[in-house]
Amino acid sequence: MKAATPSSKPAKQPSVLTGRLHKLGIYNDADMLLHLPMRYEDETRITPIAAAAPGMPAQVEAEVEHAEVTFRPRRQLVVKLRDGSGSLILRFLNFYPSIQKMLEPGRWVRAFGEIRSGFWGDEMIHPRLQAVTLGEALPQSLTPIYPATAGLAQSALRKLVIRAFERASLVDHLPEALRRSLKLAGWERSLRYLHQPPPDARLGALEDRSHPAWRRIKFDELLTQQIQLRRAYIERRAHAAARLPALGLLTARLIDALPFALTGAQRRAVDEVARDLAQAWPMQRLLQGDVGSGKTIVAALAMLQAAENGLQAALMAPTEILAEQHYRKLSGWLLPLGIEVVWLSGSQKKRERTAMLEKIASGEALLVVGTHALIEDTVVLEKLGLAVVDEQHRFGVRQRLALREKVVGRLPHMLMMSATPIPRTLAMSYMADLDVSVLDELPPGRTPIVTKLVADSRRDEVIARVRDACAEGRQAYWVCPLIEESETLQLQTAVETFETLSAELAELQVGLVHGRLKPAEKAEVMDAFVRNDVQVLVATTVIEVGVDVPNASLMVIEHAERFGLAQLHQLRGRVGRGAAASSCVLVYAQPLSQNGRERLKAIYETTDGFEIARRDLHLRGPGEFIGARQSGVPLLRYADLEQDVDLIEIARQAAEELQARHPEAADALLARWYGGRAELLRA
Ligand code: ADP
Ligand code: MG
Repeated sequence: MKAATPSSKPAKQPSVLTGRLHKLGIYNDADMLLHLPMRYEDETRITPIAAAAPGMPAQVEAEVEHAEVTFRPRRQLVVKLRDGSGSLILRFLNFYPSIQKMLEPGRWVRAFGEIRSGFWGDEMIHPRLQAVTLGEALPQSLTPIYPATAGLAQSALRKLVIRAFERASLVDHLPEALRRSLKLAGWERSLRYLHQPPPDARLGALEDRSHPAWRRIKFDELLTQQIQLRRAYIERRAHAAARLPALGLLTARLIDALPFALTGAQRRAVDEVARDLAQAWPMQRLLQGDVGSGKTIVAALAMLQAAENGLQAALMAPTEILAEQHYRKLSGWLLPLGIEVVWLSGSQKKRERTAMLEKIASGEALLVVGTHALIEDTVVLEKLGLAVVDEQHRFGVRQRLALREKVVGRLPHMLMMSATPIPRTLAMSYMADLDVSVLDELPPGRTPIVTKLVADSRRDEVIARVRDACAEGRQAYWVCPLIEESETLQLQTAVETFETLSAELAELQVGLVHGRLKPAEKAEVMDAFVRNDVQVLVATTVIEVGVDVPNASLMVIEHAERFGLAQLHQLRGRVGRGAAASSCVLVYAQPLSQNGRERLKAIYETTDGFEIARRDLHLRGPGEFIGARQSGVPLLRYADLEQDVDLIEIARQAAEELQARHPEAADALLARWYGGRAELLRA
């Protein structure tokens, strides 16, 4: 990408300053102008000392009457100021000789700060100071306060902004007619307003960013993001992929053999994927559906479509348990049709692994399931036609790319699956370069899960419930608390819980599964649970994703207040998979934090994944959702996915129009917003 403005030459400044600016994400003049104030201070007026209200920021202009360094209770500079109305003490705990010099008796200064009532009268601690000559003019605009970093003062940032205004392009890249029809303020006017608001500006509207000037900035930010994502979308079509048309051979046989009928949503998703696979450019599709919505069969059908065309398909899952479960599920469906599925994991015995690797490399095995062991160099997948990534948010960009790079000369089709529903606004902004299929319908016959909140003082009742459920032939999960600070502690807790529950529920078989078990041991416990040889499974969050045991109808989560909303939803989704009435008991410890209370309330009130995702977005912000998905999409700095929903929609349409009719303006916007940080955009 080219530099933002012709004037942004290689930095002339000393590198210390440059380094500090880089820390703030500022690489050129355009970036400097987009470094917008967080808030403002009003230094456009002087308050007489006697009229200044305690607890409020104020600026006074006064003469230094007295200054001394005292040593009790500790070394400090104490200065007495006086104006026509009264006197004020300034106190500095750290000070340089330059400050002392500015505060010699007889000098005039302006001091800006909060006034507090102290023992010796009104005082200001560490005010911002400026030496003045009597009658010196006041600033004509509010003083911007910028996000700063150590060693870079507000005054320096202000000067850099003024210089950037002189050097950077201030052209409005939005065609005038479009701008008017969208009722948006001009670009330069908006920028100047935000950096230097007039004294009568409405501070409230500036600070909550609802002011028209802010609206314009946020619009351009969203517009630029849309342009960037649209381009990525179009560029993808320039790459070659193998056409994998739906031949309906194996896929039809699998559908016939299934013990259930596909839901309408599944059929739609299967069709969308089938159509994408038939194209000569790589599919990039996100399949999102709540836990239990039946994504695996959609993936299996896509993989079979690749196999029908003689190409390989790989399914990558984030954990051993999940990968193995997928392997079993796929084998169960496909072996009867005479199709072999092979499996790869980091923990396989050497001989088994070597055999698998050979089958994969020779192309004898068309369908492969595995953990990230799939992306290792020893895995040769030259005939890979389709890569499926389950729980895609658990993988980094690099890992997904590595899977793509197994093939030379073309790109495999990609199907990414996510059980974390993505709120609409997020899908429309950050994910706009993907095609999305949504499974918005659960398979029939599921009974809704009843969620209960129980204080941990009532643990005995919870144990009684587990006993009752198992007496009826059901099974239960018991999830141990998340201990973020220490995995060892978490493990210890799980072992202790296992021991106490084994004693308390002596008539039942209790199993334990956690992250430190060897995969074979893990598999053994899971198998026993699937066979109902184990009735109660004590687990750490390793069971969070994907595990599917329909007979388990009760889930207990200890210290539920420590879990994230999405995680609770995922965990709860492990039950309610069969026809039996299921429940999820959230055991919490008092006192609850505000955020913890809100999370529990949300999970209690709704089982709708999209509603939960929306609340999660509200509680956590977008960063966590997109995670490592795309380093190529910078986070929005100013636009807010909740506050600015209407702008997202308009920006989307405007991006289309700009791209079609004013591609040069679209280029200029990309350069302005991302030019300095081009490296961010290389996913
Ligand atoms: P997820 O979307 O969470 O990955 P799964 O693919 O694991 O969901 O499916 C959950 C369960 O529902 C599995 O036991 C699966 O076999 C079953 N299932 C999938 N589709 C249907 C359907 N159309 N009708 C009935 N059961 C289904
Ligand atoms: Mg799944």
